Amino acid sequence: MTRHAGQQASRKNLFTTRRHPVLRWGILTIGLASLGAGIGKVSEPTSQPNDPLSPANQLITITLAPDPALIPADQEPALAATLPEVEPAAENAPQGETIDVVVEKGTTLSKIFANLDLPAHELDQIIKLGNDTLKLTRLRPGESITFNLSDAHELQRLSYALGHDRTLHVVRGEDGTFKSEIEEHPLEYRQTLGSGTIRSSFYQAAVDAGLPPDMVLRLADIFGWKINFLTDIQEGDRFSILYETVYKDGKPVTTGDILAASFVNNGKLFQAVRYTDKEGNTTYYTPDGKSLKRGFLRYPVEFSRISSRFSNARMHPILHEVRAHKGVDFAAPTGTPIHAVADGKVSFQGWKGGYGKVVMIQHDGTYSTVYGHMSRFEPTLREGARVKQGQVIGYVGATGYATGPHLHYEFRINGVHRDPLSVALPEAQPIPANERARFLAESAQILAQMNRLEREAQTASIESRDEPPQR
Ligand SMILES: [Zn+2]
Repeated sequence: MTRHAGQQASRKNLFTTRRHPVLRWGILTIGLASLGAGIGKVSEPTSQPNDPLSPANQLITITLAPDPALIPADQEPALAATLPEVEPAAENAPQGETIDVVVEKGTTLSKIFANLDLPAHELDQIIKLGNDTLKLTRLRPGESITFNLSDAHELQRLSYALGHDRTLHVVRGEDGTFKSEIEEHPLEYRQTLGSGTIRSSFYQAAVDAGLPPDMVLRLADIFGWKINFLTDIQEGDRFSILYETVYKDGKPVTTGDILAASFVNNGKLFQAVRYTDKEGNTTYYTPDGKSLKRGFLRYPVEFSRISSRFSNARMHPILHEVRAHKGVDFAAPTGTPIHAVADGKVSFQGWKGGYGKVVMIQHDGTYSTVYGHMSRFEPTLREGARVKQGQVIGYVGATGYATGPHLHYEFRINGVHRDPLSVALPEAQPIPANERARFLAESAQILAQMNRLEREAQTASIESRDEPPQR
């Protein structure tokens, strides 16, 4: 891979240098920028790998539109960035002048019109065409607009990608007025495998595997509850990611979802398969249908001190002195946000004796949690509402029987109080029983596809090596 070393260094610069607006665009759309010369994004500074800041001082970068046909259809994403930035306009372009404007931070369409010496009243006409032309007033850095001008420097046509699948064209008609039209582009989704072994860093291994840098973050998100990507990653760890690549006109334009992934961390295999249930919720599961997320948070408040632990001691039948404390107290300043520890439904919200202002959440038939002494509730929360894990439900206070601000937190299993600090927290919900058959069928198919592509990649890699593969 040494022949790409300069290019990798350049892309890494783009990824890690976060302050510059141009570079920030580079981070957000690097997959697209490195793949997608076909959509006219030509400002990636690949010709000056040692000076990625070079386009910084320009408000607007004006270049000729590249000819998508010059980019080979089988171009590897990681290699696409080495293509020349500027190519002559397509031969079927209208007569006159074709100008591709790449939007930089702070650029508006009126600035672009002024810069191109086009009349502002024509811009007004275009915006007033309505609907999709209104989107021209909300340009984002990195987007591009193609202008076709007549020899007399009159605007003939303006084209703006509304997404990979649609392009807005504003065309001047015979009578001189503008009309807008939408061109639809059929997209094709192909499955792509990226795999590698970690030698220096996960990031470097991912780049070497031709993966867009954001894939590293997405994988860390999928396995985040199982693997700590900051501390657990070791040399020799292996990964495979099966993901969608979106093709337009036979060329890759962006990456889609991760369909399946495997990660071998310190010899232990973790696998994830993407699944969308009948209600449209998408989650990653293990191949046998367990969730990869943790079902419950251990702590409902951050940065707190445990001021009273759980105690099951019973009140003495005669002395009436020993009292049980069937929850845990977390001392925290008044106003500290309190989070629901798991998805569920608010079964009670209000004032209840010694609890003061209290929220109770029923998580499913088995588990419920209680959050007492709140100073106030989250204003939008209502009894009966669904809550998500981590959602703020209220704020620490000292209402009810409390000597100082703290959260009184209870964890109940079938109504029986358990110590939330030591109880075995349940896994997140596995695949629901009524979805299991479909999940297993889809999962098996995706994993088989991933295995097939892995074998192909291994064969190709062994064939291309000078030295025999090391085991
Ligand atoms: Zn308490």
